[in-house]
Amino acid sequence: MDHFTYHGGVLCAEGVKLPELAAQVGTPFYCYSTATLERHYRVFDEAFAGIPHKICYAVKSNPNLAVIATLAGCGAGADVVSEGEIRRALAAGVAPGDIVFSGVGKTRDEMAYALAQKIFQFNVESLPELEALNEVAGSLGTTAPIAVRVNPDVDAGTHAKISTGSKHNKFGIDITEAREVYARAAKMPHITVQGVSMHIGSQLTQLAPFERAFTRLVEFVATLRADGHRITTLDVGGGLGIPYGRETPPTPLDYAEVVKKVTKGVDCTLVFEPGRMIVGNAGILVTRVIYVKENAGRRFAIVDAAMNDLMRPAMYDAYHEIVTVQESTKAAAVRYDIVGPVCESSDIFAEQRELPELKAGDLIAFRTAGAYGAAMSSMYNSRLLIPEVMVRDNVFAICRPRTSYEAMLAAENLPEWQ
Ligand SMILES: *Cc1c(COP(=O)(O)O)cnc(C)c1O
Repeated sequence: MDHFTYHGGVLCAEGVKLPELAAQVGTPFYCYSTATLERHYRVFDEAFAGIPHKICYAVKSNPNLAVIATLAGCGAGADVVSEGEIRRALAAGVAPGDIVFSGVGKTRDEMAYALAQKIFQFNVESLPELEALNEVAGSLGTTAPIAVRVNPDVDAGTHAKISTGSKHNKFGIDITEAREVYARAAKMPHITVQGVSMHIGSQLTQLAPFERAFTRLVEFVATLRADGHRITTLDVGGGLGIPYGRETPPTPLDYAEVVKKVTKGVDCTLVFEPGRMIVGNAGILVTRVIYVKENAGRRFAIVDAAMNDLMRPAMYDAYHEIVTVQESTKAAAVRYDIVGPVCESSDIFAEQRELPELKAGDLIAFRTAGAYGAAMSSMYNSRLLIPEVMVRDNVFAICRPRTSYEAMLAAENLPEWQ
């Protein structure tokens, strides 16, 4: 469910007409809906009503301050993977005590910063990281609250580039070796063991991998307690899929049912790290057709957005639904390859997509672009970072303006010999 619907023949974001927005901010741009963000957060939160839990929004999926602040306003914490993301979460109003720090390569500087802020938990992914954290905490005269990210060796059944829970990838510690790591952690003077964590992948459209992984995790908690560890938090990560096209992922309620069944009686605060599920459908990318051309019988619509603005199709072969901003009364009649201007043959958003007839100047929108869209954008081909606009009812705010060519050039220096 989202709040991007047609009213009076034009696509709107809540009460704002997208052609008017395009006229004011220029194209391409990202547009987010406050009501959709809040709704997704609440649906997830309410699915766990009555159970002690923390929802730590995965900032990497969309790090825009206005997005984080909207969710923080609903009570969200943050799952972060860098010092930059901690700074964003704090700037957007997330309480330090609601921040979980994930990632395989936390540097000592980042650890020191996070310790100084007194974050809720470090999800530790290796023994060398644990040793470094113990040292850094010791040098600051404090202790670090940790969970070990265990790898339950479950195939998430998702795209290889967003699968993280099988034993052959770089994430976490194999569940069969983690017990020993807990034993080491318990002996470290500046480490406080408080929980267990996992995250098996992203865009999961089946519940079975979650169920297998959570079951292993809960068994592992029992083992750890028998070993004498005090385990009070169970962080089950994120990863719940969303509908981009034809897939039918589990609803938050279905997901919650499995979580509740498997974690019944575990007596921990449950921690969730949803990203995509919260922001994915809360954002769209609006772009304008620059040219329509035909090559050997194939029709191309060349648009002003490109792979540097929305990387997912080029990187993950991802599907995004594409709609015209002017509601079409005619059926989709023509097949187009929708492509960007970047000099890469992978700069293709969609191949042979059936759409109403397009002409230069038309606005189209990529739906479900709120997660891993703007977050992954770059200035490749020296294209400016595009605006991000937040809508709330009938008003909007440009929460990240388009960068300028002046700023682009000013960010670099020539060596003094040039
Ligand atoms: C990316 C990531 C998430 C969020 O995943 P989604 O699929 O967006 O829900 C959560 N936790 C960790 C550790 C991650 O790396």
